Amino acid sequence: MNINSRLPEVGTSIFTIMSRMALEQGAINLSQGFPDFEVAPELINLINSYMLAGHNQYAPMPGTPALRKAIAGVVEKTYQRPTDFETEVTICAGGTEAIFASIAAFVQAGDEVILFDPAYDSYDPAVRLNGGTPIHLKLHPPDFSIDWEQVRKSITSRTRLIMINSPHNPTGAVLAESDLKNLEKIVTENNLLVLSDEVYERIIFDDCLHQSVLKFPALASRSIAVFSFGKTFHATGWKVGYTVAPESLTREIRKTHQFITFSVNTPVQLAFAEYLSNPETYLQLGKFYQRKRDFFLHQIVGSTFKPLPCHGSYFQLLSYEGTSDLPEKEMAEWLTREKKLAPIPVSAFYQDGANQQLLRFCFAKGEQTLEAAGKILRKL
Ligand code: GLN
Repeated sequence: MNINSRLPEVGTSIFTIMSRMALEQGAINLSQGFPDFEVAPELINLINSYMLAGHNQYAPMPGTPALRKAIAGVVEKTYQRPTDFETEVTICAGGTEAIFASIAAFVQAGDEVILFDPAYDSYDPAVRLNGGTPIHLKLHPPDFSIDWEQVRKSITSRTRLIMINSPHNPTGAVLAESDLKNLEKIVTENNLLVLSDEVYERIIFDDCLHQSVLKFPALASRSIAVFSFGKTFHATGWKVGYTVAPESLTREIRKTHQFITFSVNTPVQLAFAEYLSNPETYLQLGKFYQRKRDFFLHQIVGSTFKPLPCHGSYFQLLSYEGTSDLPEKEMAEWLTREKKLAPIPVSAFYQDGANQQLLRFCFAKGEQTLEAAGKILRKL
């Protein structure tokens, strides 16, 4: 049969490829981003008790009221944005579904969506599957900042949406208040929407403050903010995230969400609702991961691999400019095969496959693992 693929040039995601290769090669896996330490037993016990108490059928389509209420409370406290849990919060099957459902809700055939490379791998296909045209601009290394003048110049009558991501995967860059102010001005003047991927909101370092779109009222009024419990509670495999957006936008997101996932598993939602009542469960996360970043950086002192600035997320970019001329993909594969350490090539996040001799390493790992990785990197 002749299948006319809608994504002909897309293969398997780089995270799946590298994680699989790490497994086959018996390599330390710092490629796909996920913690190798455990979820709090208290949280697991809560899920268990909700399951045993019979909460095992469909949750309401937008999420259980208890969880949405808890989230609205956290959002109000964290970002000072009054949030109506009935009409502004939607629980999704992870950040990726939240992003897809939002794009499906707002991007129509012919619409242009501005996004920034290196970009998370799901953004571009999600736009194209919904008939939109992704417009890839580049962040500017070494700090991977946004050139707002260039953004302005890239806006056309077809521009519908701008996608941002802070703290940023894969670079660890963090947007400043001035970035959000620039964005606010541009989208207000041009009547655009913003999709803000904030899944690493709690993983932020060096006294940086997370600048959520929700903190800026004019911006918040035309933004969808996406969050993820997987990142905050070391539970990426549970696939629970959510959107916060004004009522008029949320109404549309729920229309697509209900036909993508319908609703997210009930006992985990009920457990999170209860668990969120103690802010200590998430307020220490930035410090926790800052220690991990510093521990990892300490391990690679003396290596020819040079770190780039990382102010958030659980990813550290390392430049191997002084070590090898191999393109990133080959370098990542060589490291995995020959040295038993798996990273992600940053070129995978670029539409044009730009090679900058940069690799991404996930430091959401136990000290022994990071130590072993450092030992390999110091020897190269
Ligand atoms: N967010 C994870 C990362 O950036 C990957 C998730 C996935 O494999 N789709 O590594």
